[in-house]
Amino acid sequence: MTVTHSDPLSYLQDQLRELDAKGLHFRLRVLDGEQRPVARFDGKEVINLSSNNYLGLTTHKSLRRAAIEAIRTHGVGAGAVRTIAGTMDLHMALEEQIAKFKGTEACVVFQSGFTANAGTVAAVLGKDDLIISDELNHASIIDGCRLSRATIKVFKHKDAADCERICKETENWPGHKLLITDGVFSMDGDIAPLPELCDLAEKFNCIMMVDDAHSSGVLGRNGRGTVDHLGCHGRVHIQVGTLSKAIGAMGGYVCGSRSLVDFLYRRARPFLYSTGHPPSVIATCQAAFTLLDSSDGEKLIKKLWANTKFFQRRLKKLGFSIGATQTPITPIHVGDAAKAFEFSRRLYEAGVYAPSVGFPTVAEGKARLRAIVTATHKRAELERACEIIAETGRSLELI
Ligand SMILES: *Cc1c(COP(=O)(O)O)cnc(C)c1O
Repeated sequence: MTVTHSDPLSYLQDQLRELDAKGLHFRLRVLDGEQRPVARFDGKEVINLSSNNYLGLTTHKSLRRAAIEAIRTHGVGAGAVRTIAGTMDLHMALEEQIAKFKGTEACVVFQSGFTANAGTVAAVLGKDDLIISDELNHASIIDGCRLSRATIKVFKHKDAADCERICKETENWPGHKLLITDGVFSMDGDIAPLPELCDLAEKFNCIMMVDDAHSSGVLGRNGRGTVDHLGCHGRVHIQVGTLSKAIGAMGGYVCGSRSLVDFLYRRARPFLYSTGHPPSVIATCQAAFTLLDSSDGEKLIKKLWANTKFFQRRLKKLGFSIGATQTPITPIHVGDAAKAFEFSRRLYEAGVYAPSVGFPTVAEGKARLRAIVTATHKRAELERACEIIAETGRSLELI
């Protein structure tokens, strides 16, 4: 007797077909070789405006050397979760280095920026507590909020007045309150109104938390982030950053008081139940922070901003709408998701890789390309990219 089983996952195929029918084909683009300003994706060399490799550190000499040396001295893996046997001297040294860099008492390194956010919010807040969150906060913050089971109230993007309205409405909330924002918003490149939000946090007795994933290595003195850039030292209780973007490797961290970090060592679930970084990654990050704090680091940050200004000025002059960006993140607004997708596809064919983003990463009807320049792009490469973006934009009647 033959038994025919129907595939209980067949609805996934249906959903994929639906997405394809909307003109939203998706395939992972495969990078062949190193993450560089001009790189080979799917066998085709393109000007790469798609990475978060702001300072070009993914291929930096001193980081490479540090990684290789750590493999020699410490092997290739930590071998256990940090709370059992997997905390190496390197992990402690990096945490100390980051705390010093950020000007906080202590720091804990997580496996990623995502787990740093989600693990911290879920550990610090509980079901009787309240979270007041910007509507465009990163997915990892949203997931952390959900995991905490706290009540979540969302204020309009960057709108301190709307945030204040919520603070007033919840003034007598019996539990703990957290006010949380991205420092730089990842899809629009705009900067949070941190001083105003800190005022509110102080007035209404909230814990203040900032996710500086896109501003570490980009904003503030030597890339210390938005808290430094906007003069909010001492006013933010929890500062999250990533090691995966400007720092060039992988990981996330939380900076704050000694007791916050000690608490996270014991209660943040990704820290407790997932193995820590291999030595090479930790050593890479150490070398990255050393570089940031040197004159070479300063030069790279200067170059990043010069390239950003050049690129954004040129796009604006061509007639593209790049929104309210204040950082190297450059959205090129299209609106319709299928059209944004087609824009990105034609650019790639013409030699520029800038991915399109649509729902659910951004709101429906707000699809866009998201281009990021780096410190290591040459001026001629950016000029050429702008020419191609202009030609392709004209072919789609975007300008
Ligand atoms: C990228 C990003 C993260 C996640 O960082 P990873 O280290 O890649 O996990 C968190 N928050 C924001 C705002 C981000 O843009």
